[in-house]
Amino acid sequence: AKDRWLSMAITLFGRNERLIVIHDVSRLRQLEQMRKDFVGNVSHELRTPLTVIRGYLETFEDLVPAGAKRMLVQMQEQADRMDALVRDLLALSRLENGSPEQRTPVDIIALLEQITEEALAVSAGRHRIHLSLETDLGLSGYQHELRSAFTNLVINAVKYSPDGGDITVRWYTQDKDLCFAVTDSGVGIEEHHLPRLTERFYRADPSRSKHTGGTGLGLAIVKHVLLRHGGELEVSSQFGSGSCFTARFAGSANLGDKS
Ligand code: ADP
Repeated sequence: AKDRWLSMAITLFGRNERLIVIHDVSRLRQLEQMRKDFVGNVSHELRTPLTVIRGYLETFEDLVPAGAKRMLVQMQEQADRMDALVRDLLALSRLENGSPEQRTPVDIIALLEQITEEALAVSAGRHRIHLSLETDLGLSGYQHELRSAFTNLVINAVKYSPDGGDITVRWYTQDKDLCFAVTDSGVGIEEHHLPRLTERFYRADPSRSKHTGGTGLGLAIVKHVLLRHGGELEVSSQFGSGSCFTARFAGSANLGDKS
């Protein structure tokens, strides 16, 4: 059918003339913006009732009879899950809409030291976490976004590694790029999942992820944060033996902004 249109166009316009097809994408853009606003508004509106529910559930802890404790704990777990989802959806929507803030120099060394400390607390001695700081260069960017992206990658390594696993967090330069990498000796990911990992709610192993308690939005957040910093996410993995997630900031080492 495409060829028929082409030959008709050539007949109508002659070989030396140009046929220009213009698609009006403004309506599509408008719909996309409406979707982003909707998700942002819904997430924001859900926060207040959720905070009230979680607050009351906490006060019930001392009041419910022993037989009902298990139900209360489940209600609290589900309310916490919903709270995490709403927070991640809100974070994603803010990232998509861009923040009006100014970039500032971020001390990546201090940030990674804090993140590693937090990961050690989450792991509670079940993993060995090594921090390898191979450059003292920082990045110009949005500190809280970089914190959230790097934390997501390190906590995923903890979540998807069995007890006794080794995790290495690296900050280094490669050619002119600045790189942050997390390598784990965990469950690994089958190759066909790799291209889809940063999609919202995409999970390589839904039953395992259900137990690890994530929202399914972590890598989507990472992708958006990196986009806003001119960076890219690279994933390599060996199913059954471990994964490596690398955030590469192209040409950033050139800037040389020590923080
Ligand atoms: P989740 O909340 O499910 O962890 P993410 O967006 O952070 O959501 O990750 C998406 C999926 O990618 C996970 O469900 C898991 O299947 C896979 N994944 C992420 N990090 C790792 C890792 N370090 N090792 C193995 N699988 C991982």
